Amino acid sequence: MITCPKCGKLAKENVQIYNDNLRKQNITISPVIPVCRLCGAEVTVSNTCSTGEIIVINGTCGSGKSTVAEILQDKGYLAIDGDCVIQSVRHKKGIKQYQWDELINEIACEIDILSLFGESFVLSHMILPGDFEKFIEIFKARNLRYKFILLKPEYQTAVARCQTRTCHTSITPEEWIKHFYDLLVYDNDNVDIVDNTNMTAYETAEAILTLPCRRNEK
Ligand SMILES: [Zn+2]
Repeated sequence: MITCPKCGKLAKENVQIYNDNLRKQNITISPVIPVCRLCGAEVTVSNTCSTGEIIVINGTCGSGKSTVAEILQDKGYLAIDGDCVIQSVRHKKGIKQYQWDELINEIACEIDILSLFGESFVLSHMILPGDFEKFIEIFKARNLRYKFILLKPEYQTAVARCQTRTCHTSITPEEWIKHFYDLLVYDNDNVDIVDNTNMTAYETAEAILTLPCRRNEK
């Protein structure tokens, strides 16, 4: 059910899911902020995802997760990028501050919206081990099969790939990546760790596509 505040009930053909105006310039994925194609107003979507497959690409800045997500988007996956989720939360709240849990709630909400338009999703987002179960619960509640990938190139490779980007303004990329590189340690049978140090983004995407899906039994 999609409702425009001006036009009323909308068919999904009349909805623009991604808001390109709020896109960050360094990626091709835009925030999921659905608007009415007829009048441009933001619409409300009430829907709960109940089937499908999600590929989660976790990793630090410089791990290549957004680039791989862009490639999967080109292959037809509906994409959610963590930086875009931050944009969406800031947009909705009207202030810059946000909590990690607000991002997780927004991601669940975006999966529900996107599920009106397809059944294959990709999420690129840095997920700390302490939050892993929260995501698995979200997938389980939506009957989603999942692949949970941790992209972990060698530390120096991540730093080199991150040099051109401004991940954080108050500290250097080295410190920023080191901090999270050390936190992103998974010892979990349901997480596939991919060392993409010597792989292109396309090779990484292909390797991820060949990995098996997991399904949490309800
Ligand atoms: Zn409208």
